[in-house]
Amino acid sequence: MQIPFHRPSLDEVAIGSVASCLAGRWLTTGARVREFEQGLAAYTRSRHVVAVNSGTAALHLALVALGVEAGDEVVVPTTTFAATAEVAIYLGATPVLADVDSGSACLSVDHAAAARSERTRVVMPVHLAGYPCDLDGLLPWAASRHIRVLEDAAHCLPAVFDGVQAVGRGDATALSFYATKNITTGEGGALLTGDAALAERVRRLSLHGISKDAWKRYTSEGTWRYDIIEPGFKYNLTDIAAALGLAQLARSDEFHDRRRAIAARYSEAFARVDGLAAPPDHPHHAWHLYILRVGDGSTSEVRDEMIERVKAMGIGTSVHFIPLHMHSYYRDRFGYQPGDFPNALALFNRSLSLPLYPALTDDEVDRVIESVTGVARELFGSV
Ligand SMILES: *Cc1c(COP(=O)(O)O)cnc(C)c1O
Repeated sequence: MQIPFHRPSLDEVAIGSVASCLAGRWLTTGARVREFEQGLAAYTRSRHVVAVNSGTAALHLALVALGVEAGDEVVVPTTTFAATAEVAIYLGATPVLADVDSGSACLSVDHAAAARSERTRVVMPVHLAGYPCDLDGLLPWAASRHIRVLEDAAHCLPAVFDGVQAVGRGDATALSFYATKNITTGEGGALLTGDAALAERVRRLSLHGISKDAWKRYTSEGTWRYDIIEPGFKYNLTDIAAALGLAQLARSDEFHDRRRAIAARYSEAFARVDGLAAPPDHPHHAWHLYILRVGDGSTSEVRDEMIERVKAMGIGTSVHFIPLHMHSYYRDRFGYQPGDFPNALALFNRSLSLPLYPALTDDEVDRVIESVTGVARELFGSV
């Protein structure tokens, strides 16, 4: 039996929630989206939440609302997904890549400082795999330089642990509900912020820049009038997606408990194996991904070999992420060399994401452990 890299957790409640949305005949943005936003606000302890149709859309609209314009610079860690940097390019701004911490694989103050210039408007820490970035360092560093902080929290939920706000402390925070994320709406995302004006702008931009209250300025009867305040985008979430999101949100703590338990079993097993190193743990880790470290990072050969061998044993894996500076667009446009960001390069060479999701059974976890440790013994020659 194959063990896929990901399998969603969809129970009868989730399927019933979507079915009842369809049965109600209201498909696009409506009451379920508002309910989902309220649920997310309570769960993440955010004052304002705007649901949108992807995490990328949330990042994009946040940059607009934070005032990023053509010619501005946005500091982005190179170890991230395409979305984090491309949204700056949408606005004619320049994503300036930064190296990451060799332990957490997240942006730290030192690396942000190395990428900063007079043109830096926003810094975008990515809580990679769900490991919380050093916001205690980054937030005051940015504030004293008039730089805004947009957190890419696509890998994070929960955001609050035992009353501690692990993520969602910057000027704005983007969540993703893509199919593989900690909770899913199929496709979807949300913007969290404590800033009412920012939230209002993002909400307006998410649906064509239309003011939903504009009719009040003209008439008190009828809601058919609307006003285009500024050109916006078509980024609204559907009620169908929100119906799934509501069912998923109700299980978020349960999902996280299971993710954390699987990660703990992996780390315990791999700690004793030569050539393998567990990813760092943290009490506020959302555990979206389990990124095992294979070899010493000097080359990617043993990691690549491990991928092929465990694939032959029926186990799906992935790599998060090929650093942005090693992709042809960024390499060609900015002239980056692989070794320009040595920590990111070494992490990339070693990174192997193993299956980590609540639907993974204990037997499957055992099989992943046996397969990976067996291959490691062959590759690294320990007894
Ligand atoms: C998934 C992801 C996104 C984008 O989310 P979408 O909902 O797929 O648009 C952004 N950043 C990171 C780090 C991600 O993993």
